[in-house]
Amino acid sequence: MIIVGNLKMNQTLEEASIYESKLTNSGIIICPSFPYLPIYKQNGYELCAQNVSEYNDGPYTGDVSASQLKSLKVKYVLIGHSERRHVYKEAQESLNNKVLKSLKQGMQVVYCIGETYEQKQNNQTFQTIENQILSLFNIIDNNDINKIIIGYEPVWAISDGINPGATPTNQEIDEVNKYITELVKEKYNQNIKILYGGSVNLNNIEQLVKLNNNAGFLIGGASKNVEDLLKIQEICKQ
Ligand code: PEP
Repeated sequence: MIIVGNLKMNQTLEEASIYESKLTNSGIIICPSFPYLPIYKQNGYELCAQNVSEYNDGPYTGDVSASQLKSLKVKYVLIGHSERRHVYKEAQESLNNKVLKSLKQGMQVVYCIGETYEQKQNNQTFQTIENQILSLFNIIDNNDINKIIIGYEPVWAISDGINPGATPTNQEIDEVNKYITELVKEKYNQNIKILYGGSVNLNNIEQLVKLNNNAGFLIGGASKNVEDLLKIQEICKQ
């Protein structure tokens, strides 16, 4: 199973060094803040960037380009995370550009999608997910679809950094995973990998590990504790 730990905007330099020394070569894909990528790189961890610029190198102060990430041996990039879509109001066009730049550099993309609580209440879950997938998949080369991993993360299930969000039932997630799998097969004739994300932790992993059509987990808050993250991975291996 694929386990991705999204450390978000956490850790000091010292904390990153300690965390890195405990992660060992577990095979977990780790997403640290940009300044710490080289720390994790030195021991050959699989690296995922939390964001990427939609532009090529140039006068874009504060941005980090796909080619810069590539030079740090970053293998994956998170694009469309709900915090980027909702806090930073990143538009779909800009997400698409980020994906295109990342693919051009040979990186794989963890493309995050998911419905808000309001959309769920209005029975718009499938429509929302379909829109998010088609908006991207219609503009990329069909041969590149296998470089995209979907991160299905209901916005209402993501923790606020302190408290965990609600956990959907396995049935709810299974239905979405089935919908995504069939949509991508039908429209693009491709098999797609899906990760589940949204307050995955030691209390719910034994249940979530039974999901269908699930290639692994995208873990935010619980990944801050390296011991918990390793325990979650152990449970996924059983
Ligand atoms: C995430 O950051 O992708 C995430 C799912 O966060 P959390 O596990 O904290 O809900």
